[in-house]
Amino acid sequence: MRSNIFIMATCGLIVVLCPPAFGQRAAGPPSQGQGNPTDDPVRVLVGRLDLERYKATIKGLTEFGDRRQGTDRNRAAIDWIEARLKSDGCANTERIKYMYNPPPPQPPQGRGGPLGPVIASGEIRTGSGGSRYRGITRPTGANNNPEAQADVKLRELNSQPTAPGPREEVYCTKIGSTRSDEMYIIGAHMDGIGWGEAANDNGSGTALVMELARVFSSPDVQTERSIRFALWNNEETGLSGARAYVEQRVDLQGKEDPPASGRYPEPTWLGMIQHDMMLWDHGMPRADGTLSPEQRPEADVNIEFQSTAKLADQAMKLAFFFRDANEKYATDYPAAVGPHMTATDSTPFMDLVPAISLRENERGMHTGAGWNPHWHQPTDRYSGFSDKDFRLGLNAAQTSLAAIAQLTGATLRK
Ligand SMILES: [Zn+2]
Repeated sequence: MRSNIFIMATCGLIVVLCPPAFGQRAAGPPSQGQGNPTDDPVRVLVGRLDLERYKATIKGLTEFGDRRQGTDRNRAAIDWIEARLKSDGCANTERIKYMYNPPPPQPPQGRGGPLGPVIASGEIRTGSGGSRYRGITRPTGANNNPEAQADVKLRELNSQPTAPGPREEVYCTKIGSTRSDEMYIIGAHMDGIGWGEAANDNGSGTALVMELARVFSSPDVQTERSIRFALWNNEETGLSGARAYVEQRVDLQGKEDPPASGRYPEPTWLGMIQHDMMLWDHGMPRADGTLSPEQRPEADVNIEFQSTAKLADQAMKLAFFFRDANEKYATDYPAAVGPHMTATDSTPFMDLVPAISLRENERGMHTGAGWNPHWHQPTDRYSGFSDKDFRLGLNAAQTSLAAIAQLTGATLRK
């Protein structure tokens, strides 16, 4: 097993270090005037992302309320996502099936409800993933109180409780033209909690993955390597859906089935890229616990790897490759790299394959410190976000699309 991991890691490293040749002539920023931008397939593909389309996909997901796992609204959302993937041309949809039988209910976790006191001190306070809190922090928690949702219609939509039992999650695959036995996995979780619409957590990441599936599935787009677009379920219960995927499919990697068919049901994993909460970067809470109502002008996409992962070095290189793709191709917001990836569906992959996450904030130091007041709250609604917020998610989409287009050798048929 260990040697397999090492070989996969080396492959991933080579891919990261040696993007396909066309990547070398990717155009720089338009101001540098490097030839006709329409000659660069990456730039053409990035141009097919659109703010209004991205917003409309998020809006579509919010029609299913908070999409809590183990409910009819969650199952209906999976059906809707699958239908959209198919109609957008990502026709090879499949489902992972697994059982989710949680331990008996515990007293509600987290503080929920109104926010508590503000903390500011010079002491070292640690957060998840190895992070350190700085400055002003606010308590966080998941809302479990239906009455906290003032909108009666939405409260009703979210009222069916979760039940243990069988679960499903959907993915679709763009099959590579010459290296169909290798793939990158592009993921986001589609389930949510908190009695809102899970617009940001994680309609924003789910819509991003769906928009990438649409662009890469266009009939005139060819990629050498395969790309799998995965919409995980049960993230909010502890990454259960992504864990089920890894358990069921890790040993199928790279196997041709049936033999000599040229078909690889599970192409070898080259990297896993997760998207989780993409919209909100309003900065640190103020001393009085309030937050800026506006996206901060310095907002950025936070790309994280986990420094304790077995493949940390390769994941770090992958993260910086994404950062570079952002610098070349994203229109508005920059990206930053950090070493504390945590608490999202890339975690079950990180010792097997280079794995990174893209988010609005660093998960430990920022999200964990209460920078997003809508996180797992009834206020996580489509109407609570501005175009400046949605545009941060669009820039994350541009970043991932540009990086994956290069890593998979994307070209356009004339
Ligand atoms: Zn999330």
